[in-house]
Order: sequence, then structure tokens, then C-alpha cells
Amino acid sequence: MSPRRPTRTVCKGPVPVGSGHPISVQTMANTRTEDVAATTAQIHELEALGCEIVRVAVLDRAAAKAIAAIRREIRIPLVADIHFSHRLALAAIEAGADAIRINPGNLKKPEHVREVVLAARGRGIPIRIGVNSGSIRPRHGLQVARSGGTGILPVGATGGTPVPPDTDLVPLMVERTMDYVHQFEDLGFRDIVLSLKASDVLSTVAAYRAVAARCDYPLHLGVTAAGPPGIGTIKSALALGILLSEGIGDTIRVSLTGPPHKEVEVAYDILASLGLRERRHPEIISCPTCGRCEIDLPALVEQVEQALRCAPPPLRVAVMGCIVNGPGEAADADIGVAAGKGTGYLFRRGKLLREVRADRLAEELVAEMGACNLLRFVSPDPNGLCKSTSPTDRPSSRRVRR
Ligand code: SF4
Repeated sequence: MSPRRPTRTVCKGPVPVGSGHPISVQTMANTRTEDVAATTAQIHELEALGCEIVRVAVLDRAAAKAIAAIRREIRIPLVADIHFSHRLALAAIEAGADAIRINPGNLKKPEHVREVVLAARGRGIPIRIGVNSGSIRPRHGLQVARSGGTGILPVGATGGTPVPPDTDLVPLMVERTMDYVHQFEDLGFRDIVLSLKASDVLSTVAAYRAVAARCDYPLHLGVTAAGPPGIGTIKSALALGILLSEGIGDTIRVSLTGPPHKEVEVAYDILASLGLRERRHPEIISCPTCGRCEIDLPALVEQVEQALRCAPPPLRVAVMGCIVNGPGEAADADIGVAAGKGTGYLFRRGKLLREVRADRLAEELVAEMGACNLLRFVSPDPNGLCKSTSPTDRPSSRRVRR
């Protein structure tokens, strides 16, 4: 692992983002923002899972107005995500957003960008300049063009010549991002976080590496439109893993098609796998199975995973396919099971405890963990999210005064 790339610190509400601080985890709510009750409820669930910054889409006036009400009910910083309308950006800032995310290239006029930057400066909140490969790729009805000087802009905004479809977008993303940075700096604004997301791993890595070498602003890492959880997790783990191992990146969002809580879990798994943050849920060590395995191990792993969903994070739990190699291969697990023929064995740190009927393995494992005081019980709710039985663990009890 390389040391963190030195950056300035930018504060999103109470959360500092930059190389002097832990890499923060964020996601985006997928509710209608103007539905304050639904959005707040989802953010509370995300807070409970360790989400540290949350973003909401601001599509219209009602959504911008809802920012104020949502912000009063949550404890983590609220970021307003705005496209195309500087008026909505101004409204979100006015409503009390802790930060905004814009792509200045789709705000049409430089004076609109200026208004937004000055409003953010007046309120003392940061702006993430988010340039995605998709936003500069030529699209039907929204052609992309190279401006007279540097960078590219949407045709119809400031004009220019079209960029051919086979153009390498990475240099253009970097060039354009730095143009925006200089534009913001000329207005005396430096509370900037940058993101340059592409939907493929190599372009994402190349874009972030290039911009990291050209400025000291904190970087928000992500792969845009990474896909459903399977491939999306792989792409995110690869791109973010490469960059983080090089010391690049200060806050991360894993983009997956699906519920946002999955993004938070995967983000923590990536950071924990690199030793950059602690795990937020137990680590399950399970074998790939082979000819020695005589039970349905994937089903058992799923059962154990569900049972431990809300158990405390530092636990390592092994679910192994046979007694021949299982306990030895998982000797450093806090507790585990190894399957036999119609039966199974409980073990702890590689030492055999007792034999258990195969159909009771998951149940007995959890019971044994309770007996060994390895669990601080919380109960899973029907959505698979955790509800703590301890009032001190509830998000509302840790709400930050604003
Ligand atoms: Fe095969 Fe046993 Fe190793 Fe699992 S633990 S892969 S069943 S030898």
C-alpha cells in the first residue's frame, strides 16, 4: 500500500474529507426526494449501516425544498445532486444542503456556474465537481463538442466542434475537470471535491491517476453505472482497490443497481479488505467445496450469513465443507462449523467443540456464539436491515447538532 496522496481537507457538514481523515463511505438515496418521510427513513437505515455522507437527487423545486426537512431529521451530511438547472442548485443551497454535486458542463452558461459557486462560497459549503464519462460522450440529441480553447462542452451550451465517438475520453475528462477547477479557483473557491467516473475499470483508474497528479483536491472515487451487484462489485473493487492501494481516494461511493444499503456494505468490504477501515459486519470464511463436501454448503453459508447479518463486525466465522481440512484452514476464525456426512462439527479457533446434526448447524453456531458471549444481539428486520436493541446504537441518539 502506498501512503495517502496529500490533499487539502474539505468539510461536508461534520465529516472532513481529505488525506488527514479516514476514507468516508457514501451512497445515494433512491427515494423521491420530495417524499420526506420515505427519504428520511431510508437515510436512517443507511446511517445504521455506517453510511457517512448521503446524496439525494434534486429534480425540481419540491425536491430542493425537501432538503431542509430531511436535513433536520438526519445526522449525516446531505449532498444535493443537481443537473442542468442552476436555479435548483441555488435552491438546494438555500435549503441548507451540506454540499452540492454538479457537473458544471451541463449548467449551460458560465454565469450560471458563477452564481452557484458564489452561493456555495457564501454558505461555506463545498461543491463536488462530478465529471462522468457518460456526460461527455456524444449522445443522440446531446452532442458533445470541443470548446474554442480547452475542454469540451455540450453543443447548445457554448458551442464548439463535435468530439468523434472513438475519442479517448479520459484526457478529455481530466482536461475538462481541470478547466472547472481553474474556473472555481478564479472565483476564490477551493472547497472542491473531484470525481471522474467512467463505467469501465481502466478508464476510471486512468482518469483518477491523472487528476491526482495535477491538484491537491480530495477525490470522490467511484465507477459510474457499474451494473448489478455481481459485476458492479467486481468493477468497483478492482478500480477502487487499485486506486486506494496507490493512496488515491478520500471518499467512496460504490454504484450498484439495487438497494443503496448494498452499496454501503460493499464499500466497507472494499475498505476493510485493504485494511483502511474496520468491517461493519462479520467476515464469513467459507471454502469453495470439493469432492469431500457432503452437504449443501452454499445453503448453509446463506443461512449463517442471514443469522449473522446484525452480529458485531470484528467476528470471523468459518463455514467449511469437511472436517478433514475445514478447521485447520480456518484456524484463525472466532468460531466455525465444518460439515460431515449428515452431521457437522462446531469448532473454535481450530479446536473441535462438538458434533451437531446437519440440519441444526446454523442454529447451533449462533447459539454457541451467544454462549461464548460473541454476540451483542440485534434483530434483523424483514428488509434485511439491522435494528439495534440498544438505544445508544440508534442513529437518532448520535444526531449531530447543527
Ligand atoms: Fe474441500 Fe474440505 Fe477444503 Fe472444503 S474444507 S474445499 S470440502 S477439503
